[in-house]
Amino acid sequence: MSRRQETIEGLSLDGRQLLDLLPHPAFVVGVDGDDSFHFAYANDAYRRLLDDGEVPVGDLRLVLPPHALVGHVRAFARAAREVRTVAFEVDWGGGERRRVMAVEVSPVVDDDGRCRHLIGAAHEVTDHRSTQRELAHQTRHDALTELPNRVMLMEWLEDAIACSPEDRFVGLVVLDVDHFKIVNDSLGHEAGDELLAVVARRVDSVLRARDRLARLGGDELAIVCHGVRQVEDVVALARRVQSVFDEAFALTDVPEVFLGASIGVAMSYGIADTPARLLRDADVAMFSAKEQGRSRIEVFDESMRERSVCRLEVETALRHALLHGEFRVHYQPLVHFEHSEVIGFEALVRWDHPEHGLTPPDDFLPIAEDTGLIVPIGAWVLGEACAQAARWAAESSGGHPLTVAVNLSARQLVDPDIVNEVERAVTAAGLDPSLLVLEVTETVLMENHDRAVAVLQALAAMGVRIGIDDFGTGQSSLGYLKVLPVHVLKIDQSFIDGLGKDPEDSAIVEAVVTLAHALGLTVTAEGIETSRQLQALRELGCDLGQGYYFARPQPGEIVRALVHHRFRWSLREPQSA
Ligand code: C2E
Ligand code: CA
Ligand code: CA
Repeated sequence: MSRRQETIEGLSLDGRQLLDLLPHPAFVVGVDGDDSFHFAYANDAYRRLLDDGEVPVGDLRLVLPPHALVGHVRAFARAAREVRTVAFEVDWGGGERRRVMAVEVSPVVDDDGRCRHLIGAAHEVTDHRSTQRELAHQTRHDALTELPNRVMLMEWLEDAIACSPEDRFVGLVVLDVDHFKIVNDSLGHEAGDELLAVVARRVDSVLRARDRLARLGGDELAIVCHGVRQVEDVVALARRVQSVFDEAFALTDVPEVFLGASIGVAMSYGIADTPARLLRDADVAMFSAKEQGRSRIEVFDESMRERSVCRLEVETALRHALLHGEFRVHYQPLVHFEHSEVIGFEALVRWDHPEHGLTPPDDFLPIAEDTGLIVPIGAWVLGEACAQAARWAAESSGGHPLTVAVNLSARQLVDPDIVNEVERAVTAAGLDPSLLVLEVTETVLMENHDRAVAVLQALAAMGVRIGIDDFGTGQSSLGYLKVLPVHVLKIDQSFIDGLGKDPEDSAIVEAVVTLAHALGLTVTAEGIETSRQLQALRELGCDLGQGYYFARPQPGEIVRALVHHRFRWSLREPQSA
């Protein structure tokens, strides 16, 4: 402190007054060693440039707002070493506040011939930037948000890592807007673009002067913070960023859009780190936040990397499975209680994994959903199920043709091509559309309400029937039943479990049956495992049921035989289980 103080005092009493008189921003940098500098003085004009007016005195690598100067430490080194004036340009601020400054750094040589100080002077060149500079700007900035892009982010990271003193680190925050694709698909791309720009501005507004914001592409933003002492500091920043999502976003045509964001945090712990690795770590942490239910912050740790490698392997294997026909459809019969016969099937996908054998959907559908692979997989299931149902219809001699129920996930429902996809499947198979039931869960409906209304209406107009899956678990208002063209309610298995034992479950099932019948809907119970449950369901007036009690899901060829089977449950004694 004292040496630094002295030299500043020594140098600057006159010099400072001189600098303060300058209309241009000017500063003094002390030379401590070959690549080591400290910020010694900023004149009034320079201080006015800084957002917070904070006078950046101290270790150059920590306090150098405008942060961009960090990248020019090399220029300072050259000026000091070669004792000559070195010039460079700097971007001050971002977005609309962006200014371009031309900076000249000149050495001050002491009596003993050594350079202990550098004097920097800046003047604004924002308006007379050359076309070339503009082009350079474009390659390093994102046109939509005017934010620096990935190229520039990598440069910052490189400089920040290289310039960090031993006890300080570089933190990286990566943010991905949750369900942005759905917003984009339902509100249109223009609104999506507008939304991204608004989000970027709001995030920018909670950053400190030395944090730097960039757009990684799509709906992903990144924030570099340097001079960090501990990961908690970066998490605190991530929290502030997350808090901007607490309030709705307003767009020109949509007054209120509520969004969430999944945020990943990673730290570099030293010179050996590379920008690419830091970015990958933060990305992995962000994915982990998504995986754990979104709208949360996750800090990178090694176990995440292992899991993400595993996810990547599953994703690759799923693509392979699609190409090589490793998926199968199993069918579970749907039994009509009153007529005691099979009236249709639910199609349930399986993955015939070359090593692990027949894999249930819960093991791979979440990854398929996240990666969007559910769209082609679901399209394949749909085509397969329609073809199977058409074969059954052709084989049936008289009697009512069998229906087939196919599940639609959230991603499929919002897929812009879904209505055409269903039409194609039905037409290709030559299936009567009224034999196809598409099942959508209540939660998916609630989360994509407007889009769901449009899609389900188009499907219903085609003659396809709609079922609400897992009914009763969505904690929804029931109002949507009036708006949507629904034909079937499937009571969730969790309410069936307690039937015959838990009076509350009976009450819920009874209420659902009453409601469905009042609305003219068919009620199906799923997950029936015991005759006692079956008995209770019959007494409560439920129409249809499926479950292990009748049959497990099985390949199409096998399940066909069940059609001729009459389920004479009334002859059986109720099981005690
Ligand atoms: P879901 O639509 O609710 O399907 C019913 C699940 O309950 C099936 O599990 C079925 O095998 C199981 N199940 C049927 N009866 C019983 C029973 O008596 N007891 C018990 N414990 N379980 C029973 P599965 O086949 O493992 O499918 C799980 C979920 O995966 C499905 O739940 C559905 O949400 C999803 N899924 C399956 N196939 C597809 C598909 O092709 N596309 C999409 N988008 N989702 C699918
Ligand atoms: Ca289902
Ligand atoms: Ca279900």
